[in-house]
Amino acid sequence: MKVSEVRIKLMNDPQDRLLAFCSITFDSCFVIRDLKIIKGSKGPFVAMPSRKLTDRCARCGGKNTLRSAFCNHCGRKLASERVGRGADGRAKLYADIAHPINSECRDQIQAKVVEAYENELVLAQQPGYVCHYDDYGDDYDFGDAHYYDEPGASHAGRIDQAARQPSQPPHTGHPERAAVRPRQTEERET
Ligand SMILES: [Zn+2]
Repeated sequence: MKVSEVRIKLMNDPQDRLLAFCSITFDSCFVIRDLKIIKGSKGPFVAMPSRKLTDRCARCGGKNTLRSAFCNHCGRKLASERVGRGADGRAKLYADIAHPINSECRDQIQAKVVEAYENELVLAQQPGYVCHYDDYGDDYDFGDAHYYDEPGASHAGRIDQAARQPSQPPHTGHPERAAVRPRQTEERET
């Protein structure tokens, strides 16, 4: 299976680790959207589409993301120890929706996406540039890019913490974006 097309939506915010969104097409017949291109210490890397993990408030049953310190519905203080930890000890707040299961596929996606991203940066400088990413007017989940692990962090042991970019605490980098609604997929009732 080959990546036959990559479409990029550049973010153009030099303050943000989120460089772009992209979609990839396999064999001209299957598309995955909402991949993210993140600024890493060794260059851009690809983060798979993911959703925020949620649980339910013990008092009112309302659904909250695991990062919430208080229930969004009744205001009850939520236990911080309900957050699970990954093998590397970091809080597990997201789950991938789609992801490669071997390094060949991961490497192919990474190489194709980064190549397309770099081409897009050049194209974007030209007059009449048109972005071909299929944008459905989603509310993007900004401000979370610093949570994404760099390649190797979760599959091949921890990366050197000193090499990491210092991460910002949530909601301090982009206060104007903190009010952005969660994406529609996360609002679905189960
Ligand atoms: Zn509640």
